[in-house]
Amino acid sequence: MQLAAFPRAPLAHLPTPLEPMASLSKHLGGPNLYIKRDDCTGLATGGNKTRKLEFLIGDALEAGADTVITAGAIQSNHTRQTAAAAAKMRLKCEHILVHPEKEHGSEYIFGGNVLLNRILGAELNYLDPGDDVLSAMQKRAESVRASGGVPYIIPIGGSNPIGALGYVGAAHELEMQADLLGFKIDCVVTATASGSSQSGLVVGFLGSSRAPRIIGFNVYLDDSVVQAHVLEVAVAAAELVGIRGGVPDDTVVVDGAYRGTGYGEPTDEMVEALGLLARFEGIVLDPVYTGKAFAGLINRIREGFFRASDNVVFLHTGGIPELFVYRSSFEKLTGVPST
Ligand SMILES: *Cc1c(COP(=O)(O)O)cnc(C)c1O
Repeated sequence: MQLAAFPRAPLAHLPTPLEPMASLSKHLGGPNLYIKRDDCTGLATGGNKTRKLEFLIGDALEAGADTVITAGAIQSNHTRQTAAAAAKMRLKCEHILVHPEKEHGSEYIFGGNVLLNRILGAELNYLDPGDDVLSAMQKRAESVRASGGVPYIIPIGGSNPIGALGYVGAAHELEMQADLLGFKIDCVVTATASGSSQSGLVVGFLGSSRAPRIIGFNVYLDDSVVQAHVLEVAVAAAELVGIRGGVPDDTVVVDGAYRGTGYGEPTDEMVEALGLLARFEGIVLDPVYTGKAFAGLINRIREGFFRASDNVVFLHTGGIPELFVYRSSFEKLTGVPST
């Protein structure tokens, strides 16, 4: 499996640290918890999209593009990391941002990742109600072409087989780090939404004699939709890197039990999980993705899903800028009313 054969833009600080969480493991009475710090990938506050963008931007440059176009929710971390990657590689960057159905305050509309997107110089377009994201991106691409530019469309979350290559690499990196630290990883836990982080991890561990179980806590759409998408991207990514024999269905485990009432909707379990990690390890999660995935992990531990001797790696996929637009969700933890 040769990742070196693919064009790649040097964007991420790699390898990211793999650290034991000794205090929290002790507090919970096992398993042995570790955290993979992909919140420290280095690009404009980091996160998981940076690994994908190394390959996506590499492909865009190889294709001779001068403008990247992508899309996401208003507080999308993916758009922010894409804007930063584009700036560094001297590409123009355009976003299609999708308004949530619910009303939100001005912090949500202008703060967090939106502020960073503007600082990074991305052009922000808002999706017209009734329009769909893909056709909106294609329309922008046509107008770039009409003015003599070369557009490159990156899907939501960077989730296609090329983006997944970033997490094929992350799986190899994890295996190497665990070897150096002298333990075998029994389980990797991640937040899953657009899916290609999990797809890449699944593909990266295919065929390894020490392949861990991988659990994706789905924070996005219905489990069946997300599971199908993770598998579809994994199958295509496996083909891309030349793995024969396909991807067994049972390697793609998607659990949406901790999503709550919907994408981006805070839950009590998320607030509790975020507080636990902060107060035992000094590491901060985000409310939309990693907080809910960590709540899923805590619940599995309390249900006795793991043996006390298991080595479990939580993948921290970033998302810190959106924490600051969810201030009012943390009253229980902070003791301070939000208004
Ligand atoms: C995008 C994102 C995820 C989900 O990753 P996918 O590859 O889209 O499934 C998880 N955590 C954070 C912080 C993200 O920004």
